[in-house]
Amino acid sequence: METNYRRCISCRRVAHRNEFFRVVRNHQTRQVTLDEGMGRSAYLCPSASCIKQAQRKNRLSRVLKSQVKDSLYDFLWQRVSQAPTAQTIEP
Ligand SMILES: [Zn+2]
Repeated sequence: METNYRRCISCRRVAHRNEFFRVVRNHQTRQVTLDEGMGRSAYLCPSASCIKQAQRKNRLSRVLKSQVKDSLYDFLWQRVSQAPTAQTIEP
């Protein structure tokens, strides 16, 4: 299997790691951050539905075996709302 491929923790879609948000629990500080550091990682599609599902089911906390703060989800929401593909606005 190609080592640069990862699976989304919400929809289980497999894609190249560059296509996903990477959430990392730093193995030294135990802080959960986005994109940086070494440690246990979880991958999420940059889509509102996958983030919503991860938050609702507390998937990140389970995968990372660590408490994930709401501020991290807020950060993900900010990221996904900046993405040019996320411009579908319901009337
Ligand atoms: Zn997904």
